[in-house]
Amino acid sequence: AGLALCDGGLVVDLSRMTAVEVDAGARTARAQGGCTLGHVDRATQPHGLAAPLGVVSQTGIAGLTLSGGMGWLRRAHGLSCDALLSATVVTADGEVRTVDADHHPDLFWAIRGGGGNFGVVTSFAYRLYPVGPEVHLCNVYYPARHAREVLRACESHLAATPDAGYAPLGVFGRVLADDELPAGLHGEPFVALLALYPGDPAEGDAALRPLREITEPLFDLSGVTTYLAAQSLLDEDYPDGDRYYWKSVSLPGLGDEMIGRLVDHAARAPSPTSTVDVWFQGGAMARGPGEETAFTGRHAPYLIGIEGNWSDAADSERNIAWVRDTFAALRAFSDGGIYLNFPGFLEEGERLVRESFGANYERLAAVKAAYDPGNLFRHNPNILPKA
Ligand SMILES: Cc1cc2nc3c(=O)[nH]c(=O)nc-3n(C[C@H](O)[C@H](O)[C@H](O)COP(=O)(O)OP(=O)(O)OC[C@H]3O[C@@H](n4cnc5c(N)ncnc54)[C@H](O)[C@@H]3O)c2cc1C
Repeated sequence: AGLALCDGGLVVDLSRMTAVEVDAGARTARAQGGCTLGHVDRATQPHGLAAPLGVVSQTGIAGLTLSGGMGWLRRAHGLSCDALLSATVVTADGEVRTVDADHHPDLFWAIRGGGGNFGVVTSFAYRLYPVGPEVHLCNVYYPARHAREVLRACESHLAATPDAGYAPLGVFGRVLADDELPAGLHGEPFVALLALYPGDPAEGDAALRPLREITEPLFDLSGVTTYLAAQSLLDEDYPDGDRYYWKSVSLPGLGDEMIGRLVDHAARAPSPTSTVDVWFQGGAMARGPGEETAFTGRHAPYLIGIEGNWSDAADSERNIAWVRDTFAALRAFSDGGIYLNFPGFLEEGERLVRESFGANYERLAAVKAAYDPGNLFRHNPNILPKA
C-alpha cells in the first residue's frame, strides 16, 4: 500500500528484531516485531504448533496482525489478532507498555484490528494450535468458464460442513508460461481452489476431495506437503522489486452477476500475474475470540482481493487503472468495508477508513486520543484522535 516508507518522516525499521520464543507446553510464542511469518512458523513447527498467520512467508507479522491477519487457519482458529495474548507497545509518549486483557485493555482492544495507529509494537505473544508438520493441501485449477459451478459447489460444501477447519481461497488468473505446466494451457483463464486441511493429512485428503472433483480440472497440484512448504508455496509469486497494487471488498454474498464480474474483470487484467481472489470467511474468524476486538469485517462471508501484480514501471498506469476499475465494479455489491491489510492507496482516505471500521471508529478515535493525541502515527489507514 506504500505505507511502509514515507517522505519527510521517520521509518522505524524492526527487521533485525526476529527472535521467537516458544513455550510448547503452554502453546504460546512470543515473537519480536520484525519477524516475518516464516520466522514464527520455523520456530513453532518443530513442536507441531502454529499461530494463525497469512499465506506468504515473507510478510511481516506486525502489520498483518495489527490489521487482522487472514490465512489458511482462519476458519479453524480465527485471525492472527484473535490469537494475540499480549503485546509490547512503545506509545507516542515514549513509554514501553505491556498490553493484554488486564493491562491497558482499551489499547489491547484497539491494536487487534486498528493497525499501526497506536504505537510501535515490538513484540507479539500468540496462542498456538496443533498443526502439521504434514498437512493436506488442495490446489486445483479449473477452467474459468466453470466459475459459477466451482464457487457454488465450494459455497454449498462449506454450508454442509460448517465446522470444517479449512478455509478455501478461490483465485481467478491465467496459467503462466511455466515449464512445469502443460504448454497447451499457458494463458488459459482459470479459477483455482486452494485450501489447507489443518488436521490429519489422510482425513484432509478425504475432506478436501469434493473441492477437487467439482468438474474436470485443467490440472490438480493437490497433495500432502509440510505446513512450512504450504506457507511458502505462494512466495515465488511475489518477487521483491515487482510492482503491486491491491484493493479489497467485503461481500455479503456471491450472486451470479457478481461471479460474472469476477470472471470478466480477471480476464481483462493487463498483467498475466494479476489475480482476483475470493477469500471464504466464516468459522472461527466469524465467531471471534470470545471477547471484542477492533477488527471489523469478520462477519462478511466473502472478501474479494484484487491484486495488480506487474514488473515494468511503464505498465503502472494501466495496471493501477484495472485495479481501480475492478474495485469500483465490485464495490456496488458490497456493504461498505474493505480489508485494511489490502487497502491499495487510500484515495478515498478518511471516509473509507471510517466506513471500514464502522461502529468501532468512534471508540478507536477515543483510544487514539488517549495514546497518540498528536497523531504521531499517521502514515497508515489513519484514525483521527477524537477531539
Ligand atoms: C506478498 C504479500 C502477501 C500477503 N498475504 C496476506 C495474507 O495472506 N493475509 C493477510 O491478512 N494479509 C496479507 N498481506 C497483507 C499484509 O498483512 C500487509 O501488507 C501488512 O501491512 C504487512 O505487515 P508488515 O509488518 O510487513 O507491514 P509494513 O509494510 O512493514 O508496514 C505497513 C504498516 O503497518 C504498520 N506496522 C508495521 N509494523 C508495525 C509495528 N511493529 N508496530 C506498529 N505498526 C506497524 C504501520 O502502520 C506500517 O505503516 C500480504 C501482503 C503481501 C505484500
